[in-house]
Amino acid sequence: MSQKHLGHTARKRFGQNFLHDQYVINQIVNAIHPLNGENLVEIGPGLGALTEPVAELVEHLNVVELDRDLAKRLRHHPFLNAKLNVLEHDALKFDFSQLSEEEGDLRIFGNLPYNISTPLMFHLFSFHSKIKDMHFMLQNEVVKRLCAVAGDKLYGRLSVMAQYYCKATPVVFVPPSAFNPPPKVDSAVVRLLPHKAPPVKLDSVDALQKIVTTAFNQRRKTIRNSLSSLLTETQISEAGIEPSLRAEALTLQDFANLANSLPSD
Ligand code: SAH
Repeated sequence: MSQKHLGHTARKRFGQNFLHDQYVINQIVNAIHPLNGENLVEIGPGLGALTEPVAELVEHLNVVELDRDLAKRLRHHPFLNAKLNVLEHDALKFDFSQLSEEEGDLRIFGNLPYNISTPLMFHLFSFHSKIKDMHFMLQNEVVKRLCAVAGDKLYGRLSVMAQYYCKATPVVFVPPSAFNPPPKVDSAVVRLLPHKAPPVKLDSVDALQKIVTTAFNQRRKTIRNSLSSLLTETQISEAGIEPSLRAEALTLQDFANLANSLPSD
């Protein structure tokens, strides 16, 4: 079944849910607070629901759009075309550093396809030193995971890894009715501010990734058990962490201490 919006048939494989609620759109644009002269990048502009109000505030905006037809529409848009740099690319593979070299730190935003939101965030984290901030529409549950702290129900791998790179804050709650077609779940916009200096001392991000993934794969177990393939109980204690705790009780600092105790290979 196809859904038409502004003469465009939404493509499911591109995760297309177009924003149409003007009140919500204004809230999001206010949260982003775009200013002229900033290096703005929108991912997945689609039919321009966010692009248009942002372009009213600034002279220049980069947009990364995978869908050929939508990219073409934007290039021929009567008033947007002069302001837009339309990059017809897969954002998951796009080298964002090429934009920062020309114009300063990036301010990235978008109403993302939900099926690619987590890999895309990790792709963007690899450019974190060149990013000023990011605002993304995500499933509300993913926003809760990004912002969760030790002890919260949704605290997990995504919380720890994202918080190593960024400070995460929810900024706008968005109901399904704000979109066409409406998604099945609630959404929210999250603000991600990359840390200027790493929040914890870490020898290797891969080691952190390994510890966090292994610990949360068996989140009901104590870390003495869930991490037994990586660290002995003595090594865990020597890192200053109580081996009878579960992953959900450990802070980013705790995970970093454990990661730094891993023998390097
Ligand atoms: N921002 C618009 C459109 C949201 S739909 C709005 O709020 O209404 C998501 C958009 O992301 C679509 O335009 C879709 O074509 C685009 N998209 C999907 N996968 C993408 C990818 N890998 N890289 C860049 N854009 C992508």
